[in-house]
Amino acid sequence: MPFSYDRARRELLTEQQELREQLEQLENEEYEGVGYGNHMADDGSEAFKQTVDMGIRRRVELSLKRVGEALGKLDNGTYGICEDCGGRIDRARLEALPQAVYCLDCQAQHEYRALPR
Ligand SMILES: [Zn+2]
Repeated sequence: MPFSYDRARRELLTEQQELREQLEQLENEEYEGVGYGNHMADDGSEAFKQTVDMGIRRRVELSLKRVGEALGKLDNGTYGICEDCGGRIDRARLEALPQAVYCLDCQAQHEYRALPR
């Protein structure tokens, strides 16, 4: 059976929808948090919560960007090609992670480079 681009597109669109909802939820939480009970909360834990929220938000935004890029690749016919080495991304990898833009080897390289110093 050939790789199903339709299925990948459907999954990406679902993922995109979910990520948008998550982002909206995070934004609503921020809005509701303004001016309410800040003086009651322990400053340290409030700051910690904001840092965590920002981390989640950044991750959601990044995922959303990746999903958008993958959808763009489906449109222009470059889907499934590694951005780094130009090789084909493993089919099983794409089925498990439709927004993958790097092959496994290059992904490992990126993760290694992205490690906190
Ligand atoms: Zn590669």
